Amino acid sequence: MDEYNRTDCPYCRAPFDPLPRAKKRCPACGQTVWVRSGPDGRRYILREADLAAHEARWEAHFEREAKAEAARLNREAARRTREALQSYAEVGTRMVEVCGADDACPMCIAVVGRAFALSAAPPIPIPGCSSEICRCDYLPVIE
Ligand SMILES: [Zn+2]
Ligand SMILES: [Zn+2]
Repeated sequence: MDEYNRTDCPYCRAPFDPLPRAKKRCPACGQTVWVRSGPDGRRYILREADLAAHEARWEAHFEREAKAEAARLNREAARRTREALQSYAEVGTRMVEVCGADDACPMCIAVVGRAFALSAAPPIPIPGCSSEICRCDYLPVIE
């Protein structure tokens, strides 16, 4: 049984029995109610006037999820970069060059093509990067 945000009509407060599973007219007042699932997993019994706000709740939810996913990808890139720099050091590479994505942000473009000593290579994401996901990377400079 799904959990509902309320069990009564949002117009007349008459209890629903059974609870509506989709758009339905309230048997007590005749007003139409909408039933929508929410990002919290509950079902919402809504008036037409509530629909836009409910939609906004989903949009905010997806935005939060996208942000969390971008943060995860950036953390992963940071870890991969540290490992790559480590393995370059192990094979005697002394310098690395920043390799940026085509759509790199201005902060990243400023360092693309620049060579850094391994120990001085900035972390990825490049500090100040304004892209949601920094796709900069390091390539070893062959001397
Ligand atoms: Zn009603
Ligand atoms: Zn950037």
